[in-house]
Amino acid sequence: MSRAVIAIVGRPNVGKSTLFNRIVRQRLAIVENTPGVTRDRIYADGKWLDRSFLVIDTGGITDERDPVQEQIRTQVEMALEEADAVIMVTDGREPLTASDYQVATLLRKSHKPTVLAVNKIENIAQTVDPEFYSLGLGEPIPISAEHGKNIGDLLDAALESIPKEEEESDPDLIRVTMVGRPNVGKSSLVNGLLGKERMIVSDRPGTTRDAVDIPLAADGHHYLLVDTAGIRRKSKVEESVEYYSVLRALRAVERSDVVILVLDATAEVAEQDLKIAGIIKDAGKACLIAVNKWDLIEKNEATAAEYEAKIRREIGFLDYAPLVFISAKTGQRLVKILPLVNQVMESYTFRISNNRLNEVVSEAIVIHHPPSNKGRPFKIYYTRQSGVKPPSFQLTVNDPEGFHYSYHRYLENKFREYFGFVGTPIKFELKTSN
Ligand code: GDP
Ligand code: GDP
Repeated sequence: MSRAVIAIVGRPNVGKSTLFNRIVRQRLAIVENTPGVTRDRIYADGKWLDRSFLVIDTGGITDERDPVQEQIRTQVEMALEEADAVIMVTDGREPLTASDYQVATLLRKSHKPTVLAVNKIENIAQTVDPEFYSLGLGEPIPISAEHGKNIGDLLDAALESIPKEEEESDPDLIRVTMVGRPNVGKSSLVNGLLGKERMIVSDRPGTTRDAVDIPLAADGHHYLLVDTAGIRRKSKVEESVEYYSVLRALRAVERSDVVILVLDATAEVAEQDLKIAGIIKDAGKACLIAVNKWDLIEKNEATAAEYEAKIRREIGFLDYAPLVFISAKTGQRLVKILPLVNQVMESYTFRISNNRLNEVVSEAIVIHHPPSNKGRPFKIYYTRQSGVKPPSFQLTVNDPEGFHYSYHRYLENKFREYFGFVGTPIKFELKTSN
């Protein structure tokens, strides 16, 4: 299921970044430290009570050389396109400004669920100035982002405003998204796949939710191609196209099962590729890497292996993703894509019986004992699969603190050796025995 996306908007200096940091504070600390990915993050995981969501700080999106009005418009448009709900932040210590009204008007017109936060109210018992009602966004919620006051109420309101996602209508549908920098060939790849198959269906349930999702049936499988490239930005955002493509990828990745990271063989792996790869990793999605424009590369027998080694080095954290060299233009190896998607999807939803699982873990332990933690032996008593998409395993252990990174790696490798798990991340959760 995809997580709700909440965007924070407002004119400069009202406290958007402070609120963002406050919401994600505990979480960021535990987010995997993927080099090149966590720098100037504009989105992060948030968690409130039992709900996980993504939060976007739109403050960083705009180009500060633009007039404030332009910045605000870009920011709000972005929020409206990408988010399920919006938090508008205002400054409770100052009178409302024309920019505040501009933001509110854009939001009101959109009918997107919006909650209004009045920030910098250290004493939340104090009544909010009635002026804030004049924004027409309903009941203002007083908060202090800096001091962490009333943030829970704000998140309650934001999450409540988002309609619960309808049940997955078709469990056999595989949602596939192409992500990548602009111009790497995402649209060409989508077209290439459609051209190959020419068996577009349109009456499947669950395929109408988004106009840019393209249903495709081939070899007895049903796919929904979530096309991030089809929606071309009008106007403005050209300059902030990098931020924009990262954000758009974020949204699309959340909604998919299998993500195809498209790289351009003629270009170096760039910061932005790493950011997008990091999104796939963080979202725990199944993945394959398609290195496109292979027709433009002058090659000999060693070229593919050299390219692959280089990409593996640079995007090491997606080491489980199979990699394929294609040309969307000439059609080279496009026939490999859907079979790979099927294989990866199978891994992503693979279930293993508890018996088999415990056999494999016991064998792994015999071959290589877990190191002890501060003199205390680390013991795994029992393993069960707790879920799929991605496959997740709960280990009942004596001391969760004693699960070393190196042993984590070792077990993961053993699982991959025994069960394949091509193209899917796998997760371990630890539970203390009592
Ligand atoms: P942004 O431009 O909207 O992202 O605003 P920032 O998060 O950078 O905050 C602008 C200023 O407001 C900073 O100096 C913050 O320290 C301050 N600020 C943010 N939240 C609060 C708050 O709850 N109370 C007070 N007194 N100041 C705050
Ligand atoms: P997107 O922005 O990622 O959707 O990229 P497009 O599909 O629009 O492709 C960008 C440009 O690269 C277009 O001019 C395509 O014709 C070209 N292109 C895409 N795939 C290939 C390929 O495999 N080989 C070559 N030579 N050009 C390609």
